[in-house]
Amino acid sequence: MIFYTEKILSNINNDSVKVVAATKYFNSDEMRELYKTGIHHFGENRIEILLEKQENLSDLDITWHLIGTLQTKKAKKIINSIDYLHSLDTIKLANEIQKRRVDALNCFIQVNISSEESKHGLNPDEVIDFIKEIRNFDKINIIGLMGMAELTSDEEIISNEFQKLNDLQLLIKKELNIDLLDLSIGMSNDYLIALKHNATYLRLGSVLFKKEVQ
Ligand SMILES: *Cc1c(COP(=O)(O)O)cnc(C)c1O
Repeated sequence: MIFYTEKILSNINNDSVKVVAATKYFNSDEMRELYKTGIHHFGENRIEILLEKQENLSDLDITWHLIGTLQTKKAKKIINSIDYLHSLDTIKLANEIQKRRVDALNCFIQVNISSEESKHGLNPDEVIDFIKEIRNFDKINIIGLMGMAELTSDEEIISNEFQKLNDLQLLIKKELNIDLLDLSIGMSNDYLIALKHNATYLRLGSVLFKKEVQ
C-alpha cells in the first residue's frame, strides 16, 4: 500500500486542520503503516471493528473517532473507548452517553445538509432546540457540527451544503451565545471545498492511499 499523507498535508497546508483517517479501508497492519506516515487520528464506522483495531494497536498513541452511526443500544459497548463522536443526532443517544460515559465526550452534532435521501443527521432547523436540550449534559462536550455533502462533482452544490453549516454556526452564536468552532466536513472528493468553509476535521479515506498491484 502506498500512502499519500505528505501530498495531502501539503494540499491542506494548515496545521490547525486535523486529518482523521477513515479506517474502514484498512486492516490493523495497514493502520500501523499509516500511523508512521504521521496521521494519528483514526475514524472507524463500526464499533466491533474499532474495538478490535484498538486492541491490536494499543501500543500507539492514537486518537480514536467514531464517524459512523451509533445505535443507542450499542452505545455502552464503545462509549468509554473513543475520544470523539461525529454522529450525535438523537436525544436518546445523548441520554445514553450522559448515563454511561465517565468523563465528557467530544461530540459533533451530525446535520443533514445534503438533499439526498438520508435518515442520519438532524435537519438544520432542529439543531438549536437539540443543543438547548443537551447543553447542560456534563458528559457531552459539544464541539461542533458534522455534515456530509452530496456525492457529486458539482462544486457549487457541495459549497452550498457546507455553507449551511457556516450559517448554523452563526445562528448558534446569535441565539445561544455558543461558539461551535469545529466543523467535521470534507471527504476525499470535497476536502478542498470544505477547507474554504472552515473545516477543522477532515475525514479522509480513499485519497490517502493506493493499493499496490502485484
Ligand atoms: C468512509 C467515510 C469517509 C471517508 O470517505 P472517502 O470518500 O473515502 O474519503 C468519511 N466519513 C465517513 C462517515 C465515512 O464513512
